[in-house]
Amino acid sequence: MIVLAVGCHPDDLEIACSGTLRKYVEQGADVYMCHVANGCQGHVVIEPDPLKEIRAREAEEAGKIIGAKKVFNLDVDDMEVDSHDPAVIDAMADVVRFVRPDVIITHNADDYMQDHTETSRIATNGSFCSGLHHRARKYEAFSSFVPVFYMDTLAGVGFQPTHYVDITAQIDTKIRALECHESQLKWMFEHDGIDFADMVRTCSKYRGYQCGVAYAEGFKPYNVYPRYSTRNLLPD
Ligand SMILES: [Zn+2]
Repeated sequence: MIVLAVGCHPDDLEIACSGTLRKYVEQGADVYMCHVANGCQGHVVIEPDPLKEIRAREAEEAGKIIGAKKVFNLDVDDMEVDSHDPAVIDAMADVVRFVRPDVIITHNADDYMQDHTETSRIATNGSFCSGLHHRARKYEAFSSFVPVFYMDTLAGVGFQPTHYVDITAQIDTKIRALECHESQLKWMFEHDGIDFADMVRTCSKYRGYQCGVAYAEGFKPYNVYPRYSTRNLLPD
């Protein structure tokens, strides 16, 4: 099993699906992570240029804790993530061609801010373009129809999962991966008074209540022709 997870900011995958990613790794899957935005606007004091370097390093560290084979960074500035930009679609398509995934996980088509929803479109459109031979750039064309699962929205707002993954055994690793994003956790605590690790743990617990386990992550499939599969693509 080969898994490609595509998030917007460098910490979004850790928030929404890193328990599941860790579970895939523990079950022998190859997991690849990708963030489209560089997170350069994610601090009130640290300037964008140094911040994007810090955040890239934080994402690399988190990827190591999860056990990802590689963390891709498409390095788009915050608030400039644009699913109609052919360059970013081609970059995404090349990631898909390189990874050749059995399943892609990305943001819900609707979430709390534009860069997240644009990333969702970039993941699905980049996946489609990966199968177009005349748009192939660096790598051999792959498939336009890899199954996609949407991960939870921030704090689960407006998202009703149809699939749940029990991450009770992975919750501590999930929080450790999240805590690699020190620039964000510290900033949110000082700026907004939010204990973000507690929020993420609480959301996982809430999804756990819904399916009868201690901690869970929720997903729903991107149901379009012909991205269905007879395989069980999420870890048991
Ligand atoms: Zn984000």
